[in-house]
Amino acid sequence: MADSKIFVTQPALPPLEEFIPYLQEIWDSKILTNNGPFHKQLEVALSQYLGVDQLALFANGTIALVTALQTLRITGEVITTPYSFVCTSHSLLWNELKPVFVDVDPVTLNLDPARIEEAITPRTTAILPVHCYGNPCDVEKIQRIADIYGLRVIYDAAHAFGVQYKGESLLRHGDLSVLSMHATKVFNTFEGGAIICPDKTTKERIGFLKNFGFADEVTVTASGINGKMSEFNAALGLLQLKYIEAALAKRRLIEARYRLYLSDMPGIRLLPIPDDTVGNSAYFPIFFDPEFPLSRDAVYDRFKAQDILTRRYFYPLISSMPMYRGMPSASVQNLPNANKAANEVLCLPIYPDLALDQVDRICELLTEFSNH
Ligand SMILES: *Cc1c(COP(=O)(O)O)cnc(C)c1O
Repeated sequence: MADSKIFVTQPALPPLEEFIPYLQEIWDSKILTNNGPFHKQLEVALSQYLGVDQLALFANGTIALVTALQTLRITGEVITTPYSFVCTSHSLLWNELKPVFVDVDPVTLNLDPARIEEAITPRTTAILPVHCYGNPCDVEKIQRIADIYGLRVIYDAAHAFGVQYKGESLLRHGDLSVLSMHATKVFNTFEGGAIICPDKTTKERIGFLKNFGFADEVTVTASGINGKMSEFNAALGLLQLKYIEAALAKRRLIEARYRLYLSDMPGIRLLPIPDDTVGNSAYFPIFFDPEFPLSRDAVYDRFKAQDILTRRYFYPLISSMPMYRGMPSASVQNLPNANKAANEVLCLPIYPDLALDQVDRICELLTEFSNH
């Protein structure tokens, strides 16, 4: 049965007919891009929804990351995590910056603050952590280290749309935060991204950098890139925003169902629910301990044979890729927790259209595998 296929993630889409009036407006106005009306509206609507001061939209999260580093004129070395999607580190290479990998905490899989100081050198200027799976980094400890050493903090918050920490948006932490609105993310505009910043002056500079460096018709202030979001994507974002609460509610139900089934299964570990956090259930990673009768990869294959797609996310580690693995900080000995996680973690399907009986089926299969 082709329609019984279960994906690891599937984009949430609004009813198509509701998008037509937006398209009509674009066709009528003939404004397709360059900070058009939908772009302006979405920046305001998202800042309000997320509870942040300033938000600059981008064509995707990767260009937003590259631009965030340029916004703060980061130079030299940047401390970052190997346990992420590859573009976290690629954004450094695009700016001719040197990534310095620091290991993750074995429980949260976020950058381990206790390991940051030993990686700081006179050339270090910034820290680029990731709120992995949408779970907050130890933002207080990271900020304390940044303050002591005079470093900037840019969060790759691609997974953290809508996450609240201690009663406010997690995106308010650090000097800048970067969102992705890619099709696979909790909130999507097909492709899209954003930089969150605290003040208008910084947002203005970001505006120049994402528009080739133009400050006005005749003044080019920097070798900026074309990072603008089009009116099509911005309009879609405005419509998607009407459905985001329902999508988050559905994701939370699925996460609760998984936790109910799997929290006592021998050989399987779950990520703990983080303190003081309202999460977004963006991912559902599980760890396979050695006592589980099958390896992580064997489970991945067996699910696939049943038309259930899971994802080894993140595998392979960034630090093992050819453009990084020669760096001293990329060695396996330096990054034991990240390497272990890359071999143990499997992300289970989670998306708003996944039915709870499909979740049950996935859990029942895991029970079968565990009785292997
Ligand atoms: C998705 C993602 C990004 C940005 O990806 P884009 O596809 O360029 O929007 C950045 N970092 C992480 C950790 C991601 O998962």
